[in-house]
Amino acid sequence: MPALAEWRMPELPEVETTRRGIAPHLVGRRVEKLIVRQRNLRWPIPLALQRGLPGQRVDAVERRAKYLLVHTTAGSALLHLGMSGSLRVLPSLVPAGPHDHVDWQLDSGKILRYTDPRRFGSQLWQPPGTLHPLLADLGPEPLADDFDGDYLWHASRGRAVAVKIFLMDQKIVVGVGNIYAAEALFAAGIRPTRAAGSVSRARYARLADEIKRILVHAITRGGTTLRDFISPDGAPGYFEQELFVYGRKGEPCRVCATPIRAIVTGQRSTFYCPHCQR
Ligand SMILES: [Zn+2]
Repeated sequence: MPALAEWRMPELPEVETTRRGIAPHLVGRRVEKLIVRQRNLRWPIPLALQRGLPGQRVDAVERRAKYLLVHTTAGSALLHLGMSGSLRVLPSLVPAGPHDHVDWQLDSGKILRYTDPRRFGSQLWQPPGTLHPLLADLGPEPLADDFDGDYLWHASRGRAVAVKIFLMDQKIVVGVGNIYAAEALFAAGIRPTRAAGSVSRARYARLADEIKRILVHAITRGGTTLRDFISPDGAPGYFEQELFVYGRKGEPCRVCATPIRAIVTGQRSTFYCPHCQR
C-alpha cells in the first residue's frame, strides 16, 4: 500500500466535487460570522479574512488548480484542503469535533465547516483586483480547451525530466496529482520514467485526452480516491477497483497480467506496467 498520507490527499476531482457540493449552499448567501477554533493551519488564517468576510454575500465559488475561491465584493477567500481537509455544509447545531477548525455561519442557518486532522490546508484572503501569490505562475487547467497534446508537446521539447514529474509540475498543468498522473500514463501506454522530451506529439495527444477522460470520470463519480473522504452529500465517490496501476504493486496488470511495478520518482510512489507502458 502507498503511504496513507498520499492516498488520502484530495486531488483535483475531490476539490471540484467539493466546489459543486458547497456552491449551491453559498452563492447568494451572506456570511454572518466566522468561528475560528484553530487558526494555525498550514499558514495562520489572516486577520484580513476574519475581518473581511463577515457581512459579505457570496457571488461565486470558483476552482483554480486545487484552490477554491469564494468571491465576494470585499475580496475572495482562498481555500485549500491540504492533505486531509474537507468542507461540508451542515446545520449549525451539529457539535464541532476536535478537527473542526473553522465554521462559516451563513444567513441560511447552515454552516460551512472546515475539518482538517493534519492541518496542512489553508484559508487565505485575496483582496479584490489582486491575484494571490499562490495562484501566480500556475499552468493551464487540465479540463480547459487550451490544454491539449500540442501544448504538452511544445512545452516538453528538450526536457529530460521524467514525463510523470513533468505532468505533475504545476507550471505545466495544474491539478494532475500522483494518482491521476499514474492512471493517465497507463491509459496512454507511456512509461512514467520516459524523458518528457522524448514523447511524440501523437502520444501527447493521447495522453491529454486520457487525463481529461480520467478527471471527468472521477468528478462524475463524485470524485474521490480517499477511502474516508466524505463528499459534501455524505457519499464516498471513488472506487479502488477502478485503479489500473496506482497502489497495485505486484498485482497483475488488468490488461496483460504482468505484475505492476512500483518505483520512486521525485520522492513519490510511481506505479506502471512494464509491458503496457513504453
Ligand atoms: Zn500490462
